[in-house]
Order: sequence, then C-alpha cells, then structure tokens
Amino acid sequence: MKLFKSVAAIALSFTMVMGLAACGGGDTPAEDSTGETPSGEVKTYKIATDTTFAPFEFEDENGNFVGIDIDILEAIAQDQGFEVDLQVLGFSAALQAVEAGQADGMIAGMSITEERKERYDFSEPYYDSAVVMAVSATNEDIKSYEDLAGKKVAVKVGTEGYAFADSIKEEYGFEMVVFDDSNGMYQDVTVGNSVACFEDYPVIAYGIQQGLPLKLNEKQEAGNSYGFAVAKGKNAELLQKFNDGFANIKENGKYQEIVDSYTK
Ligand code: GLN
Repeated sequence: MKLFKSVAAIALSFTMVMGLAACGGGDTPAEDSTGETPSGEVKTYKIATDTTFAPFEFEDENGNFVGIDIDILEAIAQDQGFEVDLQVLGFSAALQAVEAGQADGMIAGMSITEERKERYDFSEPYYDSAVVMAVSATNEDIKSYEDLAGKKVAVKVGTEGYAFADSIKEEYGFEMVVFDDSNGMYQDVTVGNSVACFEDYPVIAYGIQQGLPLKLNEKQEAGNSYGFAVAKGKNAELLQKFNDGFANIKENGKYQEIVDSYTK
C-alpha cells in the first residue's frame, strides 16, 4: 500500500538523519519506551497519527507522508536525538492505540481538551484551532445552524467537531453521519448526502484553498489548541523531550519555517 510504504520511508529517513540503526525498530514494545536505554542507544518511539488531516498530516503528490505535525515531530526527534516509528492509524484509532499502550504518543492535530486531560498528558500547545461548519460551495440554503433541521450533518468520530455537533444536534434537530476520516466527511457533503460538516478551521480552510468545493459558515466556535499527547502518567520522558525540542525549534526558527512552508 502506497501510504504505508511512504510512512516506512519516513521512519527510514529519521533513521538516516540520525545516522544510527533503529534499536529494535517497530518491534520495540511501547511499554518499554521510557527514555534512553542504559547502554545509551537511541530510543525509537511509536507515534500514532491521523491518515489525512492536511496541512498537519497527509500524503503529498509524490506519495510522501508530510505535514506540519510530521515535520515538527521530525525536527524535534532530530533535536532531542530520538527516532520515530510513525503509525498512520486514523484519529480515533490513534487515540485508542495511545490509551492501550500500543503507541507511545500521538500527534494528529489533537485538541487539548479538559475531558481528554483525564486520559492523556499533553505537551505545550503548538497550534491554535477552532471548529467551523462547512457546506457545499454551491449550497445557498444552509446559512445557520437553524437551517440544519431535519437534515444530515457529517462528522468524524472522536473529534472536537463531532463533540460540538453532538452538543447542538437536539437543539437544531439534525442527524449525524459519522466517518472515520476527514475525506469521507467532505465527500458526503460534496455529493449532497449530508448538507454540512463540522471540522477544524485550519484544516478545512486549507482544503478549500487547495480546491475542495466547500465553503465556510461565518461563525467559528471556540476550539482548543493542538498538543502532542501521551497516555496519562506514561511516557513522561517522551513528553519532556517533545516539550524541550519544541522550545528549541521555536527558538531557532525551525517551527515557524515549517508552518510557513505549508500555510504561505
Ligand atoms: N482537533 C480535532 C480533535 O482533536 C480533530 C483532530 C483530527 O481530526 N485529527 O478532536
């Protein structure tokens, strides 16, 4: 499969950048990933991510798995001297993999919410976000949440957009159609099965800029900033390395360079 091949290539390029062989690679049990080994070997961490959430993670036209999250992670891994075994699972599956100890951490445009803080420990926030409704570019009927009455609305399982739609669905009387990934959700709106979807502003605005035939509602809902996450009480060393590396790449301009390369 193209996607997984390109992910393997990324894992490999991390290895090459470090100039060291992966210690156990994908076979390293996640539970043991608590920092450097006594012999000083470089640690490899399993980091879960979403499948398609551009500009944070997506496959580019050359089949490479790229994005702000992926590049930040790579820069931090270089800065802190660890390696990454990237697991492209999908958002909800990534949440579960981290909680189950099958992955050491995740970076997936994941919003830092109070509810999630009960199950995950988060890094410093690295990107601000918001939730917004989008409709088909040609739709003139849906101008506000009131217009959703009796209609279908596409959402992505486990996300803030889902939680927001769920919180207002009784009030406005719409039905939710649930997808595993953002593309499925957008497609449901473009083919006209759902009249709208709820998605993170930076992601859907980027999609529209890239030609996705949708348009945004004027109203934006307060959203939470994105953070890197580990399971609560686990992998504190990895979280520390992420925070330390993040401070360094902000300081040396690398973080801004990465963000600009996708958003300008
Ligand atoms: N930011 C949203 C959330 O954390 C969506 C993340 C995603 O779909 N990858 O719920």
